[in-house]
Amino acid sequence: MALDAEVWKQVFQELIQEVKPWHRWTLTPDKGLLPDVLKPGWMQYQQWVFARFQCSSCSRSWASAQVQVLFHMHWSEEKSRGQVKMRVFAQRCKKCSQPPFEVPEFTLENISRILNNLVLRILKKCYRERFKSMEEIPMIKEVSLEGPHDRDNCEACLQGCCAEPTQAMSLPTSWIPRANATCPSGEHFSSYAPRSHTRRNIVGTCCCLLLLIVVVVVIIKTL
Ligand SMILES: [Zn+2]
Ligand SMILES: [Zn+2]
Repeated sequence: MALDAEVWKQVFQELIQEVKPWHRWTLTPDKGLLPDVLKPGWMQYQQWVFARFQCSSCSRSWASAQVQVLFHMHWSEEKSRGQVKMRVFAQRCKKCSQPPFEVPEFTLENISRILNNLVLRILKKCYRERFKSMEEIPMIKEVSLEGPHDRDNCEACLQGCCAEPTQAMSLPTSWIPRANATCPSGEHFSSYAPRSHTRRNIVGTCCCLLLLIVVVVVIIKTL
């Protein structure tokens, strides 16, 4: 986050100045930010997004679609000044015995999408602007995921403030990214399907052979 902070700030400035050029907004990282712990007049916005991690002990890398990005926003009308505090929740390696928490790496494309969603939320919540469509822009998941969310190694889960499991479970099938085919249930399904195919093929071959034998026997008898 320390390295990335400048990128986040810069992209945020570009986006907010496009819509509110006369207002001063700042974005600052805050590691102590907690969901639902808000100062008076502040608003909260949470997104669960896709990012990559790399273990600093063993260099293993992994991807997660459930990285929590938490924003707290405050708008002061008399000062024409807005503040955003943000926190990105970390994850740690599941292969190492005492792994440190790692901050995620985001693509610039996803940083833009996350901040675009944030600016839309600011316009709606702080400026009470109305839009025909307020749909969030989905994240780009560019690699396959290793399986279900690793709750034991997710900082937000360990602090009891990660996404509710029912939300992930209730996603319609069309919503589950293609990458999820590698999750345990997907694996089970894909390894089962070819097996039943081969079984069907064997049965088919046997039937053909039997038919051939019958035909040959009939031909021999008629001779
Ligand atoms: Zn590791
Ligand atoms: Zn979690």
